[in-house]
Amino acid sequence: MTDRYASFVRSGAGRALVKRLGLPDPPRLRRHRPGDPLLPGPALLGAATGGRLAEPVGRILRAAGVEPATVDSAVGGDVAAADADTRFGALVYDATGITDSTGLRQLYDFFHPYARSLHASGRVVVLGTPPEQCATPREATAQRALEGLTRSIGKEFGRGVTAQLVYVTADGDAGTETSLEATLRFLLSGRSAYVSGQVIRVGTGPATAPADWDRPLDGQVVLVTGAARGIGAALARVLARDGAQVVVLDIPEAGDELAAVANEIGGSAVQLDLTAPNAATRLADHLTARHGRVDVVVHNAGITRDKTLARMNADRWDQVIDVNLSSQERINDVLLERELIPRGGRIVSVSSIAGIAGNRGQTNYATSKAGVIGLVDSLAPALAERGISVNAVAPGFIETRLTARIPLALREAGRRMNSMSQGGLPADVAETIGWLAWPASGAVSGNVVRVCGQSLLGA
Ligand code: NAD
Repeated sequence: MTDRYASFVRSGAGRALVKRLGLPDPPRLRRHRPGDPLLPGPALLGAATGGRLAEPVGRILRAAGVEPATVDSAVGGDVAAADADTRFGALVYDATGITDSTGLRQLYDFFHPYARSLHASGRVVVLGTPPEQCATPREATAQRALEGLTRSIGKEFGRGVTAQLVYVTADGDAGTETSLEATLRFLLSGRSAYVSGQVIRVGTGPATAPADWDRPLDGQVVLVTGAARGIGAALARVLARDGAQVVVLDIPEAGDELAAVANEIGGSAVQLDLTAPNAATRLADHLTARHGRVDVVVHNAGITRDKTLARMNADRWDQVIDVNLSSQERINDVLLERELIPRGGRIVSVSSIAGIAGNRGQTNYATSKAGVIGLVDSLAPALAERGISVNAVAPGFIETRLTARIPLALREAGRRMNSMSQGGLPADVAETIGWLAWPASGAVSGNVVRVCGQSLLGA
């Protein structure tokens, strides 16, 4: 589906009109291509006095080929390199040293001079300590305040710049730094083009860095449900590009499209209706026979059956809950019971911002998608003991057949009411799920990451 407005805005006549009338100006977003440098320019790294993460973050940036300039001698490096004329690819700030509200001034001091110094599609990442781990109420207050800064920068800087807050556990294990590296590599790169205003938590857990960060899923067996088209097909392509052996699944009616996706990526196809009796056991039998395991399960299949609650028949309610939520539970149960998901395994479920904000005409859908968030919240601590992470992504307006069916006025509103003034692409959701699936991301669990361009809905 094409966004005609965005094409018009990028034309000569469109540019002039948009400027004169102050209309939304959707920027062309930087998206990942294998072999791309991590950032379009140098990174500027700063730290509040006493920060505990600047040193590992500096190390991570250098390993990723980015030599950070620094504004704080405590961080080490070349202070003079950070002159005001440099255009930066990213501003990264370790705020873990801020222990009360008066210390928040350090944020202003760091960001104010460089607020206009970022490249288009540049990145802002602030690192903090999870408020519940802070030693005093004042420290927890200051750390919680970081959310307001990052969300506002996401709305203010424009030109495709994204801003995120990453809370990194204070009780890290070996997996913590690896997953912090994975998270920074995702957030700084073009993989996170349509992710902004998010709060991401890096905790503990088994995490393994890949031999090659351009193939972060090498050798992993990944199942993607609903993969014949849309987000699922994009997922299959992205995961295969990143080195995974992908098993794609969809309903028998979509068999031809599914086979085309499987052929294109050298994967295998399973035709199965997830609502059929014994679907979960049949799937488990297939995975056992073919691969003996499944490292990553991506629950992507989903349907809508929109009607206001007063007009909705029970069938519409039942179908949506069954496909979008109950089938995920049935599959998880069987795969976990048979121990087909090994230690280091991943479950990633697709939710929706409708599950966060609610939506008129979608009581069934929003219930199912909020349930997916409940599933992640409840399973993540339980599965931590088995070394399996569970996360959800919540897409906003993504350009697919599903959104092409929305009436024009609503569709335009959905596209523009976010910090990027445009809809996301299926690949944007796929890249985010990919990052959560990496063996290096094991210490990221129990997160719900929105891929919505910082949509105003449910914000
Ligand atoms: P889509 O309709 O293009 O694709 C969904 C796929 O799931 C289809 O191929 C369909 O055949 C398959 N499927 C449906 N029922 C199934 C069943 N019983 N068994 C097996 N497969 C089944 O939708 P999409 O836009 O690609 O959405 C993918 C996921 O993202 C869904 O969970 C959707 O709710 C979610 N999502 C999409 C958007 C968006 O803007 N497109 C926004 C938020 C969330």
